[in-house]
Amino acid sequence: MTYFDKILIANRGEIAIRVMRACRELGIETVAIYSEPDRNALHVQYADEAFCVGEAHPSKSYLNKERICDVAKKSGAEAIHPGYGFLAENAGFAKLVEEEGLTFIGPSWKTIEILGSKIESKRMMREAGVPVLPGTPEGVTSIDEARKVAAEIGYPVIVKASAGGGGIGMHIVENDDQLEEAIEKGRRIAESTFGDPTIFVEKYLEKPRHLEIQILADGAGHIVHLYDRECSIQRRHQKLLEEAPSPIMTPELRERMAESAITAAKTANYKNAGTVEFLYSNGDYYFMEVNTRLQVEHTVTEFITGIDLVKQQIAIAAGYDLAMDQEDISMRGHAIECRINAEDPLNNFAADPGKIVRYRSPGGPGIRVDSGIHMGYTIPAHYDSMIAKLCAWGMNREEAIQRMRRAISEYVIIGVKTTLPLHYAIMQNPYFIAGETHTHFLQEGHIAAS
Ligand code: ADP
Repeated sequence: MTYFDKILIANRGEIAIRVMRACRELGIETVAIYSEPDRNALHVQYADEAFCVGEAHPSKSYLNKERICDVAKKSGAEAIHPGYGFLAENAGFAKLVEEEGLTFIGPSWKTIEILGSKIESKRMMREAGVPVLPGTPEGVTSIDEARKVAAEIGYPVIVKASAGGGGIGMHIVENDDQLEEAIEKGRRIAESTFGDPTIFVEKYLEKPRHLEIQILADGAGHIVHLYDRECSIQRRHQKLLEEAPSPIMTPELRERMAESAITAAKTANYKNAGTVEFLYSNGDYYFMEVNTRLQVEHTVTEFITGIDLVKQQIAIAAGYDLAMDQEDISMRGHAIECRINAEDPLNNFAADPGKIVRYRSPGGPGIRVDSGIHMGYTIPAHYDSMIAKLCAWGMNREEAIQRMRRAISEYVIIGVKTTLPLHYAIMQNPYFIAGETHTHFLQEGHIAAS
């Protein structure tokens, strides 16, 4: 089966390498792009060909749509895989790729555009019968209207940017007095970060769990789910540790949630791999958003299902129908992913870029490391602080935790501060071991990461 002869990977770091690994297994040639400071990065060395696309700042390199399409055409690549972050959920980029006669490995630009609006996607899902949190049905136009809705649904509420992502631009509001300021601040941040000031208000859940369903959909309207993931351990609304399946999942809850996820995909005319995110609280779950890309945490789903999600993405983009039915997909064991960030957990997770002076990665049974770093590598300050993903699989959750502890103790990264000690502390934490986590787990201070 030939899907494509050559693919350009419009990304850097571990995810660029992850995609290239799938390509290499499939006999597809790879084209890397890089910014000036990334000249010697691992993803550049891994690729068959590599082209510099500009200066360090992402707007001058990894976000330079036209330049990236030019490189794709010049190199003879037929398709572009965007990874996650950068241009992965940029409808304008997906559209440009299509207009240039190339294939975008992901959903259609129209689907990305609609689902990129949290307001629009919530509306669609509400109409399709998927549970959503109560809130303003549209963007907030006046403070009086926001006051009225907040009073109806009851405080606390959360002000969110419709175009938001990366946990940015969210403000929790405890009472009426704080609402106006939060709305103004929310608008300002939404405008400056996402170029769209539209914000909305919804009910704030105090200690929810973040659960999500991985789906795959082909062009023939065939949709399957690949079970659930739990991503409740977060800092600043950003995931830090994920697992599959969720420790609280029951067959009944899974069936309901997977059905909602498939309805969501159908409603959005979804094609390719995607993730439907939910918040869960007291037995109920609520749709949050669809992420129209490969997720960072796709690794844990790959571990429990044995399915290579990147290969599936490539096959779907090449126009092939899914080669599996729901009955063909099964789950085995338990997997955990720790995001290893070059950050200081003891200093409010401040980024700590710099040179890695000693490096030894773990291995052995059930361990997978996806990283973009190596000994002597200098982590540039311009990009995401996530430098590696450490994943452990076990026959059950207990074994996955034991293996993760063992792997963390083997992992040597010297020269920069990392989240490794924090992850070790989480692996020892009795609440985590009991599966009792929620999105405020880290703030509650059970964990000392020293
Ligand atoms: P982003 O797209 O910026 O990642 P999300 O809407 O996916 O934002 O939310 C990210 C995280 O923010 C969630 O996992 C959760 O921890 C928190 N969050 C978002 N909405 C709510 C809410 N209504 N109640 C409680 N927590 C929320």
